[in-house]
Amino acid sequence: MRRDVSSELIEKLDVERVSEILEIPLHRITGAIQRKTLQYVRGKQEFFRFDKPISGIEGGTCIFLDPFEIVRGFPKIPRALILHPGILAHFSSCKTVAVEEKMNGYNVRIALIGDEIAGITRGGLVCPYTTEKAKELVGSDLLHEHPDLMICGEMVGPDSPYVPKSIYDIESLEFFVFDIREKLTGKPMPVMKRRKLVDEYGLNSVRLFGEYEVEKAHTEVARIIQDFGSSLNEGVVIKDPEMVLTPVKYTSSMSNCQDLRYAFEYYNDYGRDFFFPRVCREAFQAVEWNETEEKLKERCQRLGESILLPMIKTINKKKDGGRITETVQIRVRDLNTAREFQEHLRLLGVDAIFQEPELTEYGYLVRIQKKYHSTDDKTESILNGDLWA
Ligand code: ATP
Ligand code: MG
Repeated sequence: MRRDVSSELIEKLDVERVSEILEIPLHRITGAIQRKTLQYVRGKQEFFRFDKPISGIEGGTCIFLDPFEIVRGFPKIPRALILHPGILAHFSSCKTVAVEEKMNGYNVRIALIGDEIAGITRGGLVCPYTTEKAKELVGSDLLHEHPDLMICGEMVGPDSPYVPKSIYDIESLEFFVFDIREKLTGKPMPVMKRRKLVDEYGLNSVRLFGEYEVEKAHTEVARIIQDFGSSLNEGVVIKDPEMVLTPVKYTSSMSNCQDLRYAFEYYNDYGRDFFFPRVCREAFQAVEWNETEEKLKERCQRLGESILLPMIKTINKKKDGGRITETVQIRVRDLNTAREFQEHLRLLGVDAIFQEPELTEYGYLVRIQKKYHSTDDKTESILNGDLWA
């Protein structure tokens, strides 16, 4: 039975053509379809998505069938844990590096599929809400004139169903471009050329802090991060101006701790994965910045509080008979988008309750309650006396 489904999909995809274009051996593609690493998705458009990287093709890469289009996934960005000599070692072949703000929202690729704009999220799904926002915030001028390109950027703001943030003074949702790439090859445009093109089309770019000599960049980045002070700006992405070398990210302690607060409110869903890497980042940053005893105490306290306080809040909430949920919101012009988004979340396996839409100045506001079953069930069972197995 499984073989039948796979062979039907293999026929649908035209694997020979894909193998030739992406330079992946044929058997790797058919194998990936059989293992469901290359998955068929049927929404408004029919396409295949790479759930994981295969033979150098990024996870999140999409292959649309009608018309046939390939949109490459957004590559992973490695992280520096220490700035010196981390930056110097990675960018040794560059004279300078461009330092841009790392904005905290969700990653979106916007591309034309035939004549239609698609807003694609990191994992390689066309999100109906993101697509509506892409049409509204970005439009199709740049892409119609350069149909071989995709615009990569961060969707940021409170009306975000994935990563809602109110730290940027954004009323609803805005899009900030951080890359323009060839959609078929993923080849990026040099930083300044990209920023100029984005400007010409009246779009927003992420903030550029400056272009610095590689030898001095670590001091500049440390200063930028320290200047964030207690604000929750996430960090920076350090880039080869030519975009030949892969960029490197570096984040602030405040934003690390903010992530931990979130993760430990839903501790059994996210806690484990978030915890270890962030503790490591804190330790290396503390050593690199050679902190005084007082600063170190502050850091330890901040870290501890970000873990324990939200978890205690969750346990108390459950003890008082509450449910462990997160409320996010979207704002749509067309109520059909909200319906399609509800279906999209179901596809993602998110259990969510959509509230009645409220008409606002900027469209319909729809609140969405996401349920965190794992944290909810675990907390309840322990409060009822179950042992931690
Ligand atoms: P990874 O990219 O390593 O898979 P991740 O999904 O956990 O990691 P982050 O830790 O948030 O993501 O870091 C990378 C992401 O940062 C990018 O995918 C992009 O969405 C986002 N980002 C925000 N600002 C920028 C910027 N200026 N340049 C590049 N990426 C940026
Ligand atoms: Mg992010």
